[in-house]
Amino acid sequence: MSLTEDRDLKPLRIPFANSYARLPENFYARVAPTPVTTPRLVKLNLQLADLLGLDAEALASPEGVAVLAGSRVADGSEPLAMAYAGHQFGYFVRQLGDGRTNLLGEVMGRDGIRYDIQLKGSGRTPFSRNGDGRAAIGPVLREYIVSEAMATLGVPTTRSLAAVTTGQAVFRETVLPGAVLTRVAASHLRVGTFQYFFAQGDVAALGRLADYAIERHYSEEAAAPDATTATRRYRAFLDGVVTRQAKLVAQWMLLGFIHGVMNTDNTSISGETIDYGPCAFMEAYHPRTVFSSIDHQGRYSYSNQPNAMHWNLARLAETILPLLVEEEGGDEAGLASAYESLEQFGKHYETALNTGMRQKLGLTTEQEGDTSLIEDLLNRMMEQHADYTLTFRRLCDAAADPQGNAGVRALFTNPAAFDEWEPRWRQRMAQEPLSPEERAAQMRRTNPIYIPRNHLVEAALEAATEKQDFQPFEDLLQVLAHPYDERPGLERYATPARPEEYVSKTFCGT
Ligand code: AMP
Ligand code: MG
Repeated sequence: MSLTEDRDLKPLRIPFANSYARLPENFYARVAPTPVTTPRLVKLNLQLADLLGLDAEALASPEGVAVLAGSRVADGSEPLAMAYAGHQFGYFVRQLGDGRTNLLGEVMGRDGIRYDIQLKGSGRTPFSRNGDGRAAIGPVLREYIVSEAMATLGVPTTRSLAAVTTGQAVFRETVLPGAVLTRVAASHLRVGTFQYFFAQGDVAALGRLADYAIERHYSEEAAAPDATTATRRYRAFLDGVVTRQAKLVAQWMLLGFIHGVMNTDNTSISGETIDYGPCAFMEAYHPRTVFSSIDHQGRYSYSNQPNAMHWNLARLAETILPLLVEEEGGDEAGLASAYESLEQFGKHYETALNTGMRQKLGLTTEQEGDTSLIEDLLNRMMEQHADYTLTFRRLCDAAADPQGNAGVRALFTNPAAFDEWEPRWRQRMAQEPLSPEERAAQMRRTNPIYIPRNHLVEAALEAATEKQDFQPFEDLLQVLAHPYDERPGLERYATPARPEEYVSKTFCGT
């Protein structure tokens, strides 16, 4: 499709609302996506389109694809680039903002949730700095694959509605095909959005922003009786973000997910995983695992993720301190309120992690010694380079029948390390009411067999980038659509990388 044909296209109807565009002008820059030469639809997420009440056929039509590529602005859309700041690896940047994304507007999902529809890679904005405003096909498909995998795994996350190629090259270390991702999120508010106004000392804007965030994400929490009807709304808001983020990071840890760039601009207010750059799933278990090529100090290593999140939440608390001071009626009381809220992070995180870990081991009750049982296993896995995902999955078989032990043992360099731990686990399971079959079935709903293994993701991106072959991408998505259902014939998707396939570094590719 060329730009000349484009003029004859009928306008696409998407029932956009534009609540963010109603906020004060200094919250964003009004800017439309930059048209591209030859948009081509690579992938449309039919299930997500359905959830959003969007007509998939219309989206896949030439006018729909033109909208998804940023070549046309759909009727009712008021495109804008959001302003935000952020701490990047601990260093504060007063102005980041959407340098290559446009918020098109919001649509109401069938679930009653209002969702942002955003194009990523859609051209330069006033926040682009030296960037070209574009994205390459590899990182676009990586975000598509991993965000959709997180959704099917049951983790709160932004979603991917579509991927289109632009027909234009982007220049990175090499020349790459350009692409645009359509990202869907409960909102794109970040800790960095609050920091943007905090850095300017704009308390009025912070109040507006907090009220907007409460209305969109924390209206129930803010209306709860212990928020004392309206007087402690901001505290309830902070508690809400702290709680959701603590649970979110626990879910990452339970799945072996490493975000890779937990900067405050990549930390959402809604509690969704956002910004899939150099993220990766750990294979052999080791707490200090890092994949990102730019994370030299291991700031965002696997085991440091809860600390990093707690730090990010402290940055959020700092920005709304003036609001807390006002609602508490004094400096000291406001500060105490912020500390109290932040202090709950550890409790929420530990509870979610320990409950989840017990579930992974097939334990439904809580007993003294459970934590040490879990730690003992993890230590052995670390020492014996056991694959994180497969160890837990094969434990499901072992829970059903001791013959299944063989599948777990095979994952340990020295299987004796597992043999020493296994009787301790069986003794503990014997104190529980479930039958072996029931237990195994429950465990299989919490321990996935398929995750987006790095070498499979890389292979899918490489085929798409170098040969315009999207089949490996499609195949991988199919497998990951049902991560908990083991299916015959898909063994290679469940198997860790062989040494020659192993991907030790991931790149943002921005
Ligand atoms: P990220 O590392 O993706 O979280 O992005 C950090 C900041 O850099 C954000 O303000 C982005 O909008 C901006 N950015 C990343 N890539 C580009 C690009 N290709 N062009 C313009 N801005 C970009
Ligand atoms: Mg970002």
